[in-house]
Amino acid sequence: MPGGRTLLAIAAAALVSFVAAGSMAASSAAESRQPSRITVAGIREHLVALQRIADRNGGNRFAGTAGYDASARYVATRMRAAGYRVRLQEFRFPFVADRSPPVLRAPGTERFRANRDFGTLLYSGSGAVEAPVVAVDLLLPSPSTNASTSGCEAADFGSFPRGAVALLQRGSCRFRQKVENAAAAGAGAVVVMNEGNPGRRGLFQATLGSPQVSIPALAASVEAGDVLRNGRVSGPTGVTVTLRADVVAETRRTRNVIAESRAGNPANLVVAGAHLDSVDRGPGSNDNGSGSALVLEVAESLAGTRPANRLRFVWWGGEELGLLGSRHYVAQLSPAELRRHALYLNFDMVGSKNFVPFVYEGSGNGSAAPPPGSAAIERVFTRYFAARGQRVQSTGLGGGSDHAPFAQAGIPVGGLFTGADEDKSAAQRDAFGGQAGEPYDACYHRSCDTLANVDVALATRLARAAAFTVAHFARDVSAVRRAG
Ligand SMILES: [Zn+2]
Repeated sequence: MPGGRTLLAIAAAALVSFVAAGSMAASSAAESRQPSRITVAGIREHLVALQRIADRNGGNRFAGTAGYDASARYVATRMRAAGYRVRLQEFRFPFVADRSPPVLRAPGTERFRANRDFGTLLYSGSGAVEAPVVAVDLLLPSPSTNASTSGCEAADFGSFPRGAVALLQRGSCRFRQKVENAAAAGAGAVVVMNEGNPGRRGLFQATLGSPQVSIPALAASVEAGDVLRNGRVSGPTGVTVTLRADVVAETRRTRNVIAESRAGNPANLVVAGAHLDSVDRGPGSNDNGSGSALVLEVAESLAGTRPANRLRFVWWGGEELGLLGSRHYVAQLSPAELRRHALYLNFDMVGSKNFVPFVYEGSGNGSAAPPPGSAAIERVFTRYFAARGQRVQSTGLGGGSDHAPFAQAGIPVGGLFTGADEDKSAAQRDAFGGQAGEPYDACYHRSCDTLANVDVALATRLARAAAFTVAHFARDVSAVRRAG
């Protein structure tokens, strides 16, 4: 769909928004009341419960651990109590986690801490080395995001001394490619430092992808990387490092929680979901306790209504390891079951402290274009916010969360998002307040992503928009079906 259509659609949405809101109130007083049944106290109750679960289970709710399983029990219990039909969809997955914290020690690194300044890349190998550091084709300062090709080509390791620790930089190619090139060149271990652009200086978490690689592989902040590179961008740096990664990698089971309304036409499924798992380094209150609480509250607010179409709410497992739960769910659908899915709404991080209220873009160009029908979902959200004078910004869908497998299967998708580790721009500060040049969520994938890291009022406001949108499609999916 050409880009110009987006502007037209938004203009049209703004024009009709008052009409839509007015006719809604007149035609269905019951439905227009529903979003207001969603309260700050209701959202907070779920967030408190999930934080308590993390506190009692080693500080996280990571897939394959007791913290996740307790989260799934909490959601299933609440949904059964609300009258939904609940089932758990189990699947096996390649679990990976630190058995003990990683070690990175060299002269000048005493101030750096595991899981704050350096950490294990997901699917790192285990092992301990003491060896010289060799910088591999670093690009510092990096002129733009993802400019560095450090370690991307086998030729980067032309004269690499066997057994040395390769110091690489985050950049244009996949982390696994960098680590596999290093291992092939005989590196004893790898440290991938962050890139240096705004929002990309601290420790980051990334996955190498399953299966586990053969050598220890750590991520590090720019500051820690700078000590190891000792002024060099290529070749031996004169620093010797003691490095260790101690990783459990094994097949485990986890589950999606699926709650379905008893009423409604099962040929038209209206699906809303959020991932319920956290990273292993923190409790995940914003990512994604907030989206999980939103979907819980929406489902509870609609319990006991008689939707024309069947409602299905899903909490995904294993999102942080690569959208494992949503991929499994979509992959096991038969063609007939796939056709029953009228749309999917995703909610991942809806309470970011330095937020922008983003609505997933429903139109686009080429291979990035969302499935037909997605624009109709965006319009429902846009009209809702416009009618209440609430400003929002649209954002490209990307592939970063659980809507991606649905979009790939041709199911119309939409959703809300309030920002992760990227920095807020000056224009966004002018429109929405907060701090420009600071991340939307400063605790993204960190241990400080606690209850205190969630803007509960924001999550509540977005939950009302979500409830309105689910109720809209519960009544009528013709707009998304027609587009298909
Ligand atoms: Zn997330």
